[in-house]
Amino acid sequence: MPDKKTQKPKKKYTKKELNHFKQKLLAERERILKELSRIEEALNEASDETEAAKQSYSNHLADLGTDYMEKEKNYYYADQEGAYLRAIEAALERIQRGDYGVCSDCTDLISEKRLEAVPAAELCINCKEKKEKLERGGR
Ligand SMILES: [Zn+2]
Repeated sequence: MPDKKTQKPKKKYTKKELNHFKQKLLAERERILKELSRIEEALNEASDETEAAKQSYSNHLADLGTDYMEKEKNYYYADQEGAYLRAIEAALERIQRGDYGVCSDCTDLISEKRLEAVPAAELCINCKEKKEKLERGGR
C-alpha cells in the first residue's frame, strides 16, 4: 500500500521565496521613492509658477486654476504613494520577522499568486474581500 502522506498546507514561505519577494519589494520601494521625488519637484515648480502668475495676475487667472488642480492632483498622488510606501516598509519588516505572507487576520498563508501581484499584501484574498465589503457598508 503506497504510503503517500497528503501534503500539509505550508504555513510559511521558505527563505528562498521570502528573498524573492524581498527583491520585489525593494525594487518597488525604489520606484516609489523616485516617483515621490518627481512629484515633490512638480509641486515645487507649481508653486513657483503660481507665484509668477500672481505677479502678472490679470492674464493668468485661468492658468491659476489649472495649476491649482494640478497641485491638488499631485498632493493626492503623493498621499497614495506615501501610503503604499508604508505598506511596503511594513512588508519588509514582516520579512525580517519571518511572518511575511501570513494573513494578519486569519493567519492563513496568502497565496503566492496574490503576493506576486501585490507583494505588500497583508491580508489573504478572503479577508481582503471581507474587509472591502465592510468598508462599503456591510452589504
Ligand atoms: Zn485571511
